[in-house]
Amino acid sequence: MSLNTELYRAAGYSLREMNNLQCFLALYEDIHWITLNHETGIYELTLDNQIFSTFRACPAHFIELYVRGLTLKGTGGRSWYLEFGILFHKMIELYYKTFRTPGFILQEWAVNTGIEEWNKQNLDFFSDHKEYKLIGGRMGFIGLLIAYAERFSAENERIRVIGTEISFGKAHEVSLGFGKANNTRYLEVFLSGRMDLLVDDGNSIAPMDHKTMASFRNDPTLKFELDEGPCGYIYAVNQILPTFLKEHNLEHLINRSCNKIIMNFISKSIPKEGERFKRIPILKSTEQLESYRLRMLDTAEDIFKCLVRYVDNGIVYRNTSACTNWYMHDCTYLPIHRQNSKANELIMIDAMYEKKTIWNTENVGGE
Ligand code: SF4
Repeated sequence: MSLNTELYRAAGYSLREMNNLQCFLALYEDIHWITLNHETGIYELTLDNQIFSTFRACPAHFIELYVRGLTLKGTGGRSWYLEFGILFHKMIELYYKTFRTPGFILQEWAVNTGIEEWNKQNLDFFSDHKEYKLIGGRMGFIGLLIAYAERFSAENERIRVIGTEISFGKAHEVSLGFGKANNTRYLEVFLSGRMDLLVDDGNSIAPMDHKTMASFRNDPTLKFELDEGPCGYIYAVNQILPTFLKEHNLEHLINRSCNKIIMNFISKSIPKEGERFKRIPILKSTEQLESYRLRMLDTAEDIFKCLVRYVDNGIVYRNTSACTNWYMHDCTYLPIHRQNSKANELIMIDAMYEKKTIWNTENVGGE
């Protein structure tokens, strides 16, 4: 079935807007997060927490990154924070897969595999980055892994790992529902993401997430208790759990509660006093999870509207309060958006940016 334009008309979108959108998406196939469902004739959005939060922070940033795919030349679009996070998560997944097996050798995991993975990702590329120096480069990273394994050794660790690397997304595992206008369902929305670990602590089945931070200046939970990311993981576990338990012959765990996420906070720098690792649960009620779902659905509808408007007339809202404070830095797209004409914007793009394939959340880890 092709696009149901009648239905979109009923939802308030013109034929011209829908035709423009179809042509645009046919031209830019790497915009992976929107696809047409040929059975229903409506668009599906598969969105991860990063896409949601970028859009909320500034719709124009979202368009530059997730629609136009613009990244700064020279950096190759690389980010220390992102790549260090991916490497650390990968090492932790490997740890929890093997740490209770008889063949586990700490040295092999932390030193040999740690260095191999560090080099594979070429993290020495960031040797001038202040956090690279703070952590002490590759050898500091190995030290961090060893300290983690000592703190959460097989003897100390109370949890049982029941799943690793659990991805969800385009296979429709985690539905957020339908976008509706004028009583017409015109959009179906799915959450995508990837959990490091799913664990059983005896009372609950919970995702376990790791957050590496430069240091613990305040209570790290304060930063994440209202963050939509952890809430999204708890929501996702509730949706995928029955199928997961069945597939893994763990149906006897079906009555465990599923209302929390276990956060492991890791300080990249070695603190002068106190611990380098903090493990704190964040709990969400059923009401909070439903409210999360409705917020994400609302944002997804705004994302769709924003895309339609951008394709139709090039207009996109800007959050100018974030231009010089994009996570405490200048926004990557400031050099474009400070230009006084479209022509100058294009000159700037040509000089400073390149088009990259749009980040696909389902390819985390590159495998
Ligand atoms: S420069 Fe400002 S308006 Fe432009 S994308 Fe960045 S935050 Fe948004």
